[in-house]
Amino acid sequence: MLDIPREEQAKIFQPNSQWVIPRYFRRSFCYSCMKEHIANFSLPSYRKEWCSVGVVVCQIHKCSLLDASGIVASSPSMAMRILKAYSEDPSQCVAASRSHDADEQFTALYKTQLFFQTLEASQQQADQNGMWSCSEPHTGLPRLLLSIFLYPRFGLVNRFIAPRSSYRITTLFQQTLNAGPLVAGIAQRWAGMLMLGWLFELFTPRESTDVESFIERAGAIAGFHDARSLGAACNVFNSLHSDVIARRLREWMPNPSPALLQQFIEGFSEVSIRS
Ligand SMILES: [Zn+2]
Repeated sequence: MLDIPREEQAKIFQPNSQWVIPRYFRRSFCYSCMKEHIANFSLPSYRKEWCSVGVVVCQIHKCSLLDASGIVASSPSMAMRILKAYSEDPSQCVAASRSHDADEQFTALYKTQLFFQTLEASQQQADQNGMWSCSEPHTGLPRLLLSIFLYPRFGLVNRFIAPRSSYRITTLFQQTLNAGPLVAGIAQRWAGMLMLGWLFELFTPRESTDVESFIERAGAIAGFHDARSLGAACNVFNSLHSDVIARRLREWMPNPSPALLQQFIEGFSEVSIRS
């Protein structure tokens, strides 16, 4: 390690994303990855990929990530604690992560994850070059959509998947909005990612059918049945905040925009105008 130049050392630990879950909320893991660490005679370690908000599946093992529910740790021994908890009672992690449902949607989730990572990489590149093309979707839009879906306590996803971690809503609206995706459990994050991929129309007709059946089940609980009513159901904000978000959504909407995304934004904005 000492032979590696300082900048290279930093790269080893730096997550591949600019949207990173804070230390005390990092609980997502892939059990197969950890088993592999042990099989290779090394200590199980927490992979940096799992720290990114946009990462919900393991691309090596083609499975969804699990949530080590109830574990709060940030020390190097965290991976050991997660492994111990999972070995003692895997059912808790599986239930908290809703991993059976997530595994059924693996391809759709993987596609959305790749879409997200590609946007982040091109944005990083554009930031470095000081240029950004307006015709391409901005990372701001998918991030804002996830923040709306995962808004603490009142957000849409919390209406059909009960939150595991509690987050006190602060008087600072922007802070609460930003915190949602960072404190959400993996089950909420993958549900949000799935809706995101659907709105951006990333899926083949067959994948879409599977995703739509998930959305239909969620909609039956949370009160929506298409992209427009999803947008309306997501608008849980007061009129001031709702206006700010609706304006941002319209500003960041790519041109041309997927039809579902347009309908979502229209549905969201209509509530904003009514209130
Ligand atoms: Zn893995």
